[in-house]
Amino acid sequence: MAFPFPRALSSFRASSLFPTLPMALSPHIHSLFPMRALHVSASLSATAQDQSPPPTVLSQQGSNIRWKPMCLYYTQGKCTKMDDAIHLERFNHDCSRDLEVNIAKLKCLRSQNLDFFLVLDLEGRVEILEFPVLMINAGTMDVVDFFHRFVRPSEMSEQRINEYIEGKYGKFGVDRVWHDTAIPFKEVLHEFEVWLAQHHLWKKQLGGRLNRAAFVTCGNWDLKTKVPQQCKVSKMKLPQYFMEWINLKDVYLNFYKRRATGMITMMKELQIPLVGSHHLGIDDTKNIARVLRHMLADGAVLQITATRNSDSPENVEFLFKNRIR
Ligand SMILES: [Zn+2]
Repeated sequence: MAFPFPRALSSFRASSLFPTLPMALSPHIHSLFPMRALHVSASLSATAQDQSPPPTVLSQQGSNIRWKPMCLYYTQGKCTKMDDAIHLERFNHDCSRDLEVNIAKLKCLRSQNLDFFLVLDLEGRVEILEFPVLMINAGTMDVVDFFHRFVRPSEMSEQRINEYIEGKYGKFGVDRVWHDTAIPFKEVLHEFEVWLAQHHLWKKQLGGRLNRAAFVTCGNWDLKTKVPQQCKVSKMKLPQYFMEWINLKDVYLNFYKRRATGMITMMKELQIPLVGSHHLGIDDTKNIARVLRHMLADGAVLQITATRNSDSPENVEFLFKNRIR
């Protein structure tokens, strides 16, 4: 989250990709009247799904990649237009669509200590606003599944939330879907635990740590700083599955022997095109997954880079001597 955006890549900014929507379609008008998902009628919800930006063709390195924005109702299990051909044509309903694995890239893949990587990239500085997780199979690099929720702050006035969301998500044209779908952090984690359990990655009865899986983040901020802060604000104990993680920047430094300060730097150095809207969590998560897969294809073995002691969870131990500070 919050990586400075280099000028060289500014042509990929969402705002320059999406033409300005006509006033009648502007999501800002609707965001004056935010509604929770449960209160949205099917027809209003269906209209809202047409508010996001139209499909865009990205031209990158001489090739045209037809890119469509994700349906952010779908990513949260709330799309009601799965039988509407026009809607399906405009919005991507397949999280692995622009993350296909090139079989030729698998030949250097090494055996990993974990079966699954959970790529996580939180959004929201004051409180968490978005919680996107992409589940990657460590043996095949395929996207197995994803979990995505917009998160409603718990200690902010309605007016402050409206300003915050318009500033953060208005420029991507997704403030309306945020208001339609966001739920409190506590509920997000409850639903996340159900999702983890469905994939046999976690069981409360087994101490609550992840089983055969680990979070992969770009930096330590997400799990060292933000999640514990949000747990305090949301008056809950830090769950055990957040006790260790893999900071991709540390693995990058120790594998390639060069420093990268953020996702954009790693992507530039590895010549991976940035796809989607930078700072929209679900798109950043996919871009981090692209970096992760590039490193796996180059022969990197991912290992835990940071861990908390269960007895004194405020202390984080970093496992690499050379690391990005
Ligand atoms: Zn949809």
